[in-house]
Amino acid sequence: MSDLVPPDIMPLRQGTVGVDFVTGLDSGVPGPNLVINALCHGNEICGAIALKRLMRLGVQPSRGRLTLILANVAAYQRFDPLRPLASRYVEQDFNRLWSESLLDGDGVSVELQRARMLRPFYQQADALLDLHSMTQFCDPLMLCGRTERARNLALSLQFPRWVVADSGHAAGRRLIDYGAFSVPDAEAAKGAAAPIALLAECGQHGLAAAAEVAFALCLRFLDHFRLIPSSVIAEAMPAIALTPQKVVIVTDVVTAQSDECVLAADYAGLDRVPHAGTIIGHDQGLPVRTPYDDCILIMPARKVRRGQTMVRLGRILS
Ligand SMILES: [Zn+2]
Repeated sequence: MSDLVPPDIMPLRQGTVGVDFVTGLDSGVPGPNLVINALCHGNEICGAIALKRLMRLGVQPSRGRLTLILANVAAYQRFDPLRPLASRYVEQDFNRLWSESLLDGDGVSVELQRARMLRPFYQQADALLDLHSMTQFCDPLMLCGRTERARNLALSLQFPRWVVADSGHAAGRRLIDYGAFSVPDAEAAKGAAAPIALLAECGQHGLAAAAEVAFALCLRFLDHFRLIPSSVIAEAMPAIALTPQKVVIVTDVVTAQSDECVLAADYAGLDRVPHAGTIIGHDQGLPVRTPYDDCILIMPARKVRRGQTMVRLGRILS
């Protein structure tokens, strides 16, 4: 099911910085350098809709700098509403490339080429908001990596309700873990540059609600750093119900050992499994069990191949 119409992104093509689909808005006044990123995955269109909406709003920072990026445009241009999952990427997952060894290596792909082009914008960011959506119908959630500064930012935004602290995937490093984004807080305390990155899973692919969440998060992010006047934020903010946030600490990432990896039930994501030892899936015919009581299943994937993340397991921080 899909409510959202893939947006015409061509108005965002002619950016201001010499790279297609990158729009830099500079206030000329000192302040934080923020990046909002969409289309890391070509089929996750809610972020592109949110960025277009920001542009329509005429958003202009009153301090610092704001850069709006449409990342994997080549994948998006292959978007087919009848096969929405097919345009996640062209050759490689753009969100698994973020280690210097891959970026500086001699690998060649559509995604690596784009990542190398965009790398300076991410490297210069003081804070990054990366907008995604999910295959399952699931509450929105914010992935904040392992740093406390990113977790605190997620809590400062007061939304979405679920904040998930995790380390990413065996299949490759995510953008939010790239370089200084994942510098430990202890090094930041000693004076190391310590930018912050958050990955928002705004809802199910294609649902109108996901685009509302993406847009609301953009506004909250900009408001937190006081980049645009509060009056503009207040007027544009969609009605979003704020409920107390829950932090989930990911303890285990279950990576598929084979292509014959299946879940035991139709999990939606953020399911709570009360008893340790419950079978939640099978891989190579062997059961996959929860390791402790009240285990939270994060983004269980129905179809994965060997080496991809099947599900993440976490505990609610009390
Ligand atoms: Zn994604």
